Amino acid sequence: MQHRLSVLVHTPAHSGLSQPLSYLSDEAFPLGQLVRVPLGARETLGVVWSSAESDAHPEHALRPIVGALRDLPPLGQDWRALIQFCAQYYQRSPGEVAWAALPQALRGLDLTQWTRRWARFERTPATAVAGTRPQGPALTPEQSEVLATLSQGVSPCLLFGSTGSGKTEVYLRACAEALSRDAQAQVLLMVPEINLTPQLEARVQARFAPWLGEHAVVSLHSGLSPAQRLQNWLAAHCGRARVVLGTRMAILASIPHLRLIVVDEEHDPSYKQQEGARYSARDLAVWRGQQRQAQVILGSATPSLESWHNSRSANAEGEAGRYHRLHMPTRVGSAAWPRVHLVDMNHQRRDAVLSEPVLQALEACIARDQQALVLLNRRGYAPVLHCGDCGWKSDCPHCTAFRVFHKRDRSLRCHHCGFASRVPRACPDCGNQDIHGLGRGTEQLEEHLGQWLQGLRRPNGEPLRLLRMDADNTRRKGELEAQLAQVHDGTVDVLVGTQMIAKGHDFRRIGMVVVLQADHALYASDYRAPERLFALLMQAAGRAGRDAQANASGQGCDMWVQTHSPQHPLFEALQAHDFPRFAEGQLQERAASGLPPFMHQALLRAEARSQSVAQGFLQFAETAAQALGATTVQIYPPVPMAMARVANVERAQMLVESASRRHLQQFLPRWLAALQQSRDAQRGVLRWAIDVDPQSI
Ligand code: ADP
Ligand code: ZN
Ligand code: ZN
Repeated sequence: MQHRLSVLVHTPAHSGLSQPLSYLSDEAFPLGQLVRVPLGARETLGVVWSSAESDAHPEHALRPIVGALRDLPPLGQDWRALIQFCAQYYQRSPGEVAWAALPQALRGLDLTQWTRRWARFERTPATAVAGTRPQGPALTPEQSEVLATLSQGVSPCLLFGSTGSGKTEVYLRACAEALSRDAQAQVLLMVPEINLTPQLEARVQARFAPWLGEHAVVSLHSGLSPAQRLQNWLAAHCGRARVVLGTRMAILASIPHLRLIVVDEEHDPSYKQQEGARYSARDLAVWRGQQRQAQVILGSATPSLESWHNSRSANAEGEAGRYHRLHMPTRVGSAAWPRVHLVDMNHQRRDAVLSEPVLQALEACIARDQQALVLLNRRGYAPVLHCGDCGWKSDCPHCTAFRVFHKRDRSLRCHHCGFASRVPRACPDCGNQDIHGLGRGTEQLEEHLGQWLQGLRRPNGEPLRLLRMDADNTRRKGELEAQLAQVHDGTVDVLVGTQMIAKGHDFRRIGMVVVLQADHALYASDYRAPERLFALLMQAAGRAGRDAQANASGQGCDMWVQTHSPQHPLFEALQAHDFPRFAEGQLQERAASGLPPFMHQALLRAEARSQSVAQGFLQFAETAAQALGATTVQIYPPVPMAMARVANVERAQMLVESASRRHLQQFLPRWLAALQQSRDAQRGVLRWAIDVDPQSI
C-alpha cells in the first residue's frame, strides 16, 4: 500500500510554495522523520511534517520519496512546534526556518553518504558517566540565595548580576542541578559570541567532562566546520550531548530532553538574527522553555529594557512582569568597582587624543605594574579622508558611507561593502597634496600611544608592550586567542581596541580603563543607542578591579571617560553603577514616546537598484495595509534607510506598530499574503522582507 506523506522542504522565500508538499511512500514514516525527496530536477532533504490525508492532489500526480535517513530518530513534536512558531511569529515559511535549523552538512548528504555518516557517528564513544558530580567553589551568600530560588523551578528568570558577581558559577550550578535530577536531562547554555569567550568553553568542559564524559559537552556555532557542526548536532539530537554550549543558532537545535536554557548576556544584540528568518534567540528561548517546561535563566549586568520591564515588580494594581527578577549586586571576593571619572573634553586642547588627567593616571598605572585598557569603538586610522581646499571626502562610490583610512596598508576601505583602493597621493578632485584624516580610529590611537609610551619603562626596566585588538587584526584563525592569552599572561601592558576588548574577559591585572569618544552613541538616531552604550561602558568597567593585590591594599581602580557631554544622565548612572536608575529613566522616555517595550513593531524592508522602485513597492504595501482595514496597527510612510545605499543597492523601509502584540501578529500574515500576490508591485525589487521586533530602525 502507498502512503501519502506531507513533507516540509525548503523552497525559496516568497515562491508561494511555503506549505508542505505531498509525496508517496511505501512505508508510513512518523512525523519528524527526515527523508530525501525529489524537488523539480533536484533531490533535497525534507521533514515529514503532517499527515496528508486531506490533501486534494490525486495520487497519480504525486512523486515517491527517494528514501528515509534510517536510524536517525525523528525530530520531536516540541522541535516541530518550535519551528512552526518561529515561522509564524517572524513571518517566514516553516521550510525556511527548518532549513536554517538543520546543519548544512546534513542537507547535502544523499542516502548512501548518510548511511556512512551515521555509522561513523555510532562509532564515536557514547557518553559514559565517568565521575562524580563536580563541586565548584563555596558559594557566596547571593549565589546561594539565587540558586535556592532557582531550585524551586521558577521560570523565566532574569538574573540581574553585576559583572564579576559570579553569574557563570550560578549557571554551572543550575546546569549541574538539572543534569543530576534526571539521567537524560540536557541543558542549553547560550552566549553571544563564542570566540570572544574561549575561557567559558574551557570552564564548562572542565566542570562537566570529568563527570559526564568528554563527549557530553558540545558546542554549536558558526565557527565550527560543517562536519563538526553536524557531529555536535547529532550528539544533541540523539541525547548524547548533555550540555550544549552555543550561539543564537543553537536555540533551533533539536534537544529532546531539554530541561534548562541559560541565555548569558541576554541584552546582546547578536541574539537577533539579521537575515532570513530574523528571530530573536533570547525570545525563542523563553517560548521554548515555556512550551517544554524547561527552566529559562536570562542573565546580564545590564539587561535589555524588554527583560527589565518584563521582570518589573508589582505595581499598585498588583500587576507584575512575567519574569522573576533575581539580583546579585556584589562582586565576588575583593573585586572592587572602579571609580568613574568624567573628563570634560570641552576643556582640553582641541586636538588632544588623551587628556592630561588620563595621561597622568596612565603613567601611575604603569608605575604600579598594572595593565591599562583603552577602548575606542572605531577601527582604522581615520574614519574619513578629507581635502581642506575643495572639501573632497573619501565617499564610498557604492554606499552612503565614507571609506575608512587604514594607514598600515595605505588603503581606503569601505566597512560596509568592502570596496578598497590605495590612498591617493593628492586630492582626486583638486590635486591638493595636503589631504588628511578626520577623526580617529584604533590604528591612530595605537600609533599615538606607542610614541607616548616610548619614554616610559616598566618598574623592572623593561620596555612597555602595547597591543591593539580589533576586527582588522583578529580575523585569522587563532589570532584572537593568541592576543587574549598575551593579555592574560601579562605580556601586554596597554591594550587598545574596539568593543571586543570589553567583552566578558576575566583579565586579572587591569588597573584602569579609558573610554574615548563615548558621545557618538548619545546623539545617534537609533533610540537603542544609549542602552547599548550604557551596557558597553558597564562591561568595560567590569574588566577592571579584578586585581586581588591592588584591592587588598585599598588601591582600587579607575575608569576614565572622555566626553563632551559630562552632564548627560547616562554618565551619572554610570558613576553610581546604577543600572536600575538608568533603566527607569530610559523606560520613562520610551513610554512617553511610544517605543518598545511599550510598543510592538515590525519593519517592511525593500531593496532595489533605485530608491523609487524600493519605495514604490512600500507605497503599494501601505495601500494594501489600508485596504486590509488595519485600524489596530499604525502604518508609517516609506522612508529610505538611515544608510540608504549599500553595495549599490538602495534600501527603504516602513514601520508598522501596535501597542498590542496580538493585533500586530494578526495583521502581519494578512499583509504578507497580500504582498506575496502582488507580482506587479514587486517588479524591479531585488529583495523584500518583514523584520518582526527589529533591533534598529
Ligand atoms: P560574572 O559571570 O557574573 O561576570 P564570573 O562567574 O565570571 O562572574 O565570576 C567572576 C570571578 O569570580 C571568576 O573568576 C570566578 O571564578 C570567581 N567566582 C565566582 N563565584 C565564586 C565563588 N563562589 N567563590 C570564589 N570565586 C568565585
Ligand atoms: Zn581637493
Ligand atoms: Zn561601500
